[in-house]
Amino acid sequence: MSTNLAERMKKRLPVPYTDSLPDEIKRNLGRWVDRKFHSNGIIEHISESGEHVFTIKVGGTPNARFSSDTLRKFAGIEDKYGIKALRFTRSGNIEFIADNLENSMMIKSEVEKMGYRTGGWRNSLWSISSCTAYLSCTTAVVDSPSITKVLYDNFGKYFEDEESLPAKLRINVSGCPTACGGLTSDIVVVGHYGDAPSFDPQKIGLCLPRKAEALKVAVPEVVMVCPVKCITAFGKEDGSVGINIDRGKCIACGRCKDVCDYITFDSKKTGISILVGGKSSNTGMGPNLARVLIPWIPANPPNYGELVSVLRKIIDMWKKDGAAGERFADYVRRIGLKSLQETLEIPVTKWNNSDFSESQFGIRQFAQR
Ligand code: SF4
Ligand code: SF4
Repeated sequence: MSTNLAERMKKRLPVPYTDSLPDEIKRNLGRWVDRKFHSNGIIEHISESGEHVFTIKVGGTPNARFSSDTLRKFAGIEDKYGIKALRFTRSGNIEFIADNLENSMMIKSEVEKMGYRTGGWRNSLWSISSCTAYLSCTTAVVDSPSITKVLYDNFGKYFEDEESLPAKLRINVSGCPTACGGLTSDIVVVGHYGDAPSFDPQKIGLCLPRKAEALKVAVPEVVMVCPVKCITAFGKEDGSVGINIDRGKCIACGRCKDVCDYITFDSKKTGISILVGGKSSNTGMGPNLARVLIPWIPANPPNYGELVSVLRKIIDMWKKDGAAGERFADYVRRIGLKSLQETLEIPVTKWNNSDFSESQFGIRQFAQR
């Protein structure tokens, strides 16, 4: 490796990011002063220089995976009508950029002909973000991209503003309690195992030190990773090592399974938690983490009927009772979790009663209490 710092930094850092920007954007960096909406899905940005560009927001695929053919078609549309710039947002949407309204309308029309939705601004569904789950992650419990697709199929009308909402709405879907999608969305859907794991007493030894003596100097990884310390290792009479799992204490997070393939969960108990009231924005009642509304419902692919039915009721209630401009998260904080549960007739248990409910969703339906 070169010992010259400047040389090393040149290799590590990306090219100056302005090299990738179209001239219209580069010329006006830091000079944007105003914006206007032109139908849902098109926003005009106005610079103090008098220049303006238009962004056309397109709903992406779950977890933002596109075929190369689709990307070529998008690039072709942008080359023809736009300023040769595409942006992929952190919420999984795609933004085309044009320099006049007429071409913006053409882009909107062309991507809609491809079957994509445009919209997602003002009082609408801004995004349904999905983690990657099985496609490139080893810890998934449910297939979050397929859940996201089903939610877009059912609630996409709110992205396109066919039906208005009281305010902007964000939904996050995560495949496991790691919750890469985050807990600061109005509605958060998280897959989890539903109960403590079991293990094969014969084979678990393959994940443990071979000799009990080793326990005097090191804690086995499968024990160490447990966040609530409910796994204990012990030496057996024959000098080998075994473990116990305190099932009542376990929060079904799945970390032990990540490091040991002989730990298993009952797939019949795999389910979904629904959390509500998260928001990162500092407007209204300020930022908040979502809290558990429903600790467990079944995850039933391909239609996820139970989940869709609950979300439909939740959104309908907010549409009916939310004040104009009131984010769903602020609505939940105003009326209280208890009131939401009573109106929606959601069974309340120790795990989701309004005094107990928090952002910790590794609690489960089938736990021994
Ligand atoms: S939330 Fe879980 S399943 Fe999804 S990407 Fe993160 S770790 Fe993987
Ligand atoms: S699932 Fe999580 S809490 Fe339960 S035993 Fe494994 S690591 Fe511990």
